[in-house]
Amino acid sequence: MKILVINCGSSSLKFQLLDMNDESVLAKGIVERIGSEGTSITCETPKNGKIRNCESAGNHTDAASLVFKYLSDEKTRVIKNANEIDAIGHRLVHGGEVYNSSVLIDDKVVEALKKYSVFAPLHNPANILGIEACKNLLPDVPMAGTFDTAFHQTMPDYAFMYALPYSIYEKHKIRKYGFHGTSHRYVSGIAAKELNKNNPKIISCHLGNGSSICAVCNGKSVDTSMGYTPVDGLVMGTRCGDLDPAIVNFIEKEEQMSHKEVDDMLNKKSGVYGISGISNDFRDLENALHDGNKRAKLALEIFDFRLRKYIGAYTAIMGGLDALVFTAGIGENDWETRYFACKDLEYLGIEIDENRNKTIRGNFADISLPGSKVRIYVIPTNEELMIARDTKEIVSALK
Ligand code: ADP
Repeated sequence: MKILVINCGSSSLKFQLLDMNDESVLAKGIVERIGSEGTSITCETPKNGKIRNCESAGNHTDAASLVFKYLSDEKTRVIKNANEIDAIGHRLVHGGEVYNSSVLIDDKVVEALKKYSVFAPLHNPANILGIEACKNLLPDVPMAGTFDTAFHQTMPDYAFMYALPYSIYEKHKIRKYGFHGTSHRYVSGIAAKELNKNNPKIISCHLGNGSSICAVCNGKSVDTSMGYTPVDGLVMGTRCGDLDPAIVNFIEKEEQMSHKEVDDMLNKKSGVYGISGISNDFRDLENALHDGNKRAKLALEIFDFRLRKYIGAYTAIMGGLDALVFTAGIGENDWETRYFACKDLEYLGIEIDENRNKTIRGNFADISLPGSKVRIYVIPTNEELMIARDTKEIVSALK
């Protein structure tokens, strides 16, 4: 079974084609700058490596047809034609309180995506564009969707509620939803298999440009750091994370900024970038730190401090910890962040193998000392595979 996984942004379309007989990746890539000048497609196949070309795509349907063209052209020859695609799996962002697992996409799901666009104004409309593009080009191919929020629907009410008047929740459904659910589900699933014990208590740290941490008890998300929006929780590349809400009013008034400008500041000009004034990229910050830059040092210290605070808090709410998992760009590649996240947490049973932590690369690794009560894993995330697996299961049940 060949499954195409699609992840649509407002001006981009990421794709990955998987052969689900052996879960191998046949091709992957991205169409960028859809609808503007300078549209490009990058397509990578095991046989031909990476190809990047300028093309034109006025909308997402054009972008999807470019993808089908590249998958079946003479050079790549991954498929003969688009009819070889058995199913399409979409990465969807916000499923509100309704979707707690992946779903077969029908009109009801599209309606729900529209409804929850108020919660994810950048992402849900783009997801709909992706669905419509595929429907236009391959109307008979079944499609499934995996929501970023779904995994966190198991959080108990005392974890997902904000302490606002209850009517705000009733009227507007303002609550914690959490994001990165597919990644947390994937890596915590692998960690649970490794642990092979009853009721595993796992903390999953998805540390990328956007970062979140999740407490997973017996396969269920019981709390996560992102909230009503993905700006909450950990310090991120350009997002502030946890913040006293009174600050927003103060800044609006004193800096004479509009809501939109403050929102922009919290999302795009804050985080380690805002503190350091240098970059959102941890490689740049660590280089600057080693050159003696004080604000880069401070930015990284604030990031590490908040991460450790959440690790402690999530260990407390689960009543213990069996495994701590690091994933995504920073979690998989940055030994310094992993080191500082675990430092001085021996009293919780977290003991990192410093040498192993520095030398591992790319694959699954256990970086805890042999005697560590808590296993510390580095697990490369693979949201596309998770989406493809869910899609396969949903579509196979139709037959
Ligand atoms: P996104 O949230 O955009 O998917 P990623 O998970 O790809 O982000 O993470 C990107 C971030 O990972 C970069 O901004 C950078 O901070 C960090 N990163 C990537 N490679 C390394 C590395 N070798 N060392 C340290 N940090 C890295």
